[in-house]
Amino acid sequence: METRKVSDGRQAAEGVSPAEGGREEIVRHGISAAPGIVIGPAFVMRPEIFSVPNTTVPPAEREKQIASFKHALAETRKELIQIQADMSERLGEDHARIFEAHLLILDDVMVVGDTEALIRSENRNAAWAFQKVISNILSGFEDIEDEYLRDRFTDILDVKKRVIGKLLGKQKRKLIDPSEPSVVFARDLSPSETAQFDRKKVLGYATDRGGRTSHTAILARSQGVAAVVGLEDLSARVRSGDPVVLDGNAGTVVIHPSHSTLDNYHREIKQYKKLEKELLKLTGYPAETLDNRNIQLKANIDLPDEIESAVAYGAQGVGLFRTEYFFIAQDKLPSEEEQYQIYRSVLEHMGDNPVTIRVLDIGGDKIADYLHSSPELNPFMGWRGIRFLLTRKDIFKTQLRAIYRASAHGSVKILLPLIVEVDEVKKAKQICAEVREQLRSNRFRIDDNVEIGIMVETPSAVLLADALAKEVDFFSIGTNDLIQYTMAVDRGNSKISHLYQHLHPSIIRFLKMTVDAARKHKIPVSICGEMAVDPMSTVVLIGLQLDEFSCSPNMMPEVKKIIRSVTYDECKMLVKRILKYVTTEQIERDVTRLLRERCPDLAMFHE
Ligand code: PEP
Ligand code: MG
Repeated sequence: METRKVSDGRQAAEGVSPAEGGREEIVRHGISAAPGIVIGPAFVMRPEIFSVPNTTVPPAEREKQIASFKHALAETRKELIQIQADMSERLGEDHARIFEAHLLILDDVMVVGDTEALIRSENRNAAWAFQKVISNILSGFEDIEDEYLRDRFTDILDVKKRVIGKLLGKQKRKLIDPSEPSVVFARDLSPSETAQFDRKKVLGYATDRGGRTSHTAILARSQGVAAVVGLEDLSARVRSGDPVVLDGNAGTVVIHPSHSTLDNYHREIKQYKKLEKELLKLTGYPAETLDNRNIQLKANIDLPDEIESAVAYGAQGVGLFRTEYFFIAQDKLPSEEEQYQIYRSVLEHMGDNPVTIRVLDIGGDKIADYLHSSPELNPFMGWRGIRFLLTRKDIFKTQLRAIYRASAHGSVKILLPLIVEVDEVKKAKQICAEVREQLRSNRFRIDDNVEIGIMVETPSAVLLADALAKEVDFFSIGTNDLIQYTMAVDRGNSKISHLYQHLHPSIIRFLKMTVDAARKHKIPVSICGEMAVDPMSTVVLIGLQLDEFSCSPNMMPEVKKIIRSVTYDECKMLVKRILKYVTTEQIERDVTRLLRERCPDLAMFHE
């Protein structure tokens, strides 16, 4: 069985051992996405939660339905062969054979033939016809005791899920909240699904897919919910109600934990709670290094109600309010008035502390069905952020009107996402000026000094930082995207997550270039990407001379602890040294040494 100390980016691996009580204990290592250790029942979001539509298809459409069905079968076959190959490599050929039955079902002449016949004879859609054929087969299994045949039942169910999932690919899953606090398992969770869960019912998230900076992981962190992603096929191996342990610190999930595993985890939870309590004591203290370099520590919020915890953790403002989540958590555009009320309430909660509102960064993995009618081939490189806003000026202006109206009730800044060129900033500023003018002429009270800044989150923005700095009041570095675009590594793909490195030499150099440009033009520079909460990166960011860190409220105590344990001078020296290195390993070696020396208790939980 694997040990439990796992770092980010490690490929999923599994250990199986007999547990007391007869059920096999399954230990699976994925990617740690949000901290915390929780024990509770599993709640599995199965793709069969898809409601399969039953529609009449005109005769001219029948052949199209049959073609889609064949395509779904072929895609499922490809998927299963891939899983089989991965499994064979990881666990040996014997384990991989379990998928042979699945493949046989896909090729079964009766299953395929009956579905086609049903589409033709009943004039029905393919998903409905396939479901009916499979249901007929499964009804014959109901009273079977034989274990081997029972397993085939599960195989058929799995094939059904996969094929119907493909046929209904574009349809939304119907979300059902767990009835008691549970660990939610799913193959994948979209940010909009994560945003919709009743948080009181969710102890943790465990998904087969996803990376540490996927928006689902970020959302889990802001919700203070432990999460592990990149668990490969674990959601298919767990049933709702199974007892599980989810260790978001180490990136481990245990199904049917044995008594001794539970004892160990109870001990670890106790230790972790103690550390958390210690960290919370820092809430009233400034984020200041031992040699008095003061760093502003602000909160990232994704949903408006997170402002409460931002205040509770002593945030010195909101460094990033991602406004897109309340757009995608509902099924229509929020009105100007609705938005105004939200922004105003957040500003009022923060009092004199500034709130940086990022205008809608929709697109990529943050999709609102009512705004994106056709899927894109490369959504992260597509109609996202400022590109969306400059083509949907109606939506942009409505949001700006709401923000400027709210500016009368606190201190607000506007942040523009996904900038790649100067022209985008000029156009956006022009629209801001028009909106301000209009509001003034309509006699609205607004703040005349609302600052406008940009996200530096594309390689192009870094390379143009000098020119961009002349146009704006501040920079906010978005490392989540900056790393994705620089390293050409999808931030949500667990297969390549080992390439997603905060401390890669090219990232450190890009950060340095951005800070230098900001310094030259005397504008402040902050970081709001998840790199800010990676303990290994904190000392580097201090040494790079960033003015401000913004992160999920519950991560703030840990960041503060590191800031308060080091000197600014030693961090600057560290950066001077690592800027010469050409590999991540060299950089990590020096950083680890410093972190271990200065914060041994934190280092213990993160190594
Ligand atoms: C980033 O890219 O680092 C960032 C903070 O924005 P988001 O995670 O919302 O893309
Ligand atoms: Mg971003």
